[in-house]
Amino acid sequence: MESRKEAQPKGEFKCQLCGLTAPYTYYGQKPPNTRSIVILEESYVMKDPFTPDKDKFLILGSQCSLCSRLVCVGTECSLFYSKRFCLPCVNENLKAFPIEIQEDMDKRKSQTKSFPSEKMDAKI
Ligand SMILES: [Zn+2]
Ligand SMILES: [Zn+2]
Repeated sequence: MESRKEAQPKGEFKCQLCGLTAPYTYYGQKPPNTRSIVILEESYVMKDPFTPDKDKFLILGSQCSLCSRLVCVGTECSLFYSKRFCLPCVNENLKAFPIEIQEDMDKRKSQTKSFPSEKMDAKI
C-alpha cells in the first residue's frame, strides 16, 4: 500500500562490515520518482539529500549474494560483479573471480592503510 509519494524513510540501512548507517527510502531495483533508472541489483536507496531533484538518489548498499550480509557500496566493503559480493566473500572465493577482480583486490589491499602494528611487549 503505497499511498504516499514522499520519500519517507522505510527503515535504517546498516552496513554489517563498516557499520555505516543511513535511513533508506526504498529497497529494490526501480526507485520511485526516477525516470528510467533501473539499478542492476536490489539495493537500499535513499533520496539524495544534497539536491532538490526528485530523481536523484544514492545507493547505500545491498545484500551480499553469498552470505546475505548487508553491505554498503563502499569500496572497502563490497564490489559488484554481476551480483553484489562483500569483500570477505570475495577474498574467500577470490580464485572464482576473473583476474581483473583479483588484481583489483590486490590494489585495494595495498591501498588500505595498515593498522598500527600490535604491541609486541607481552613478555612472558
Ligand atoms: Zn560498509
Ligand atoms: Zn558476503
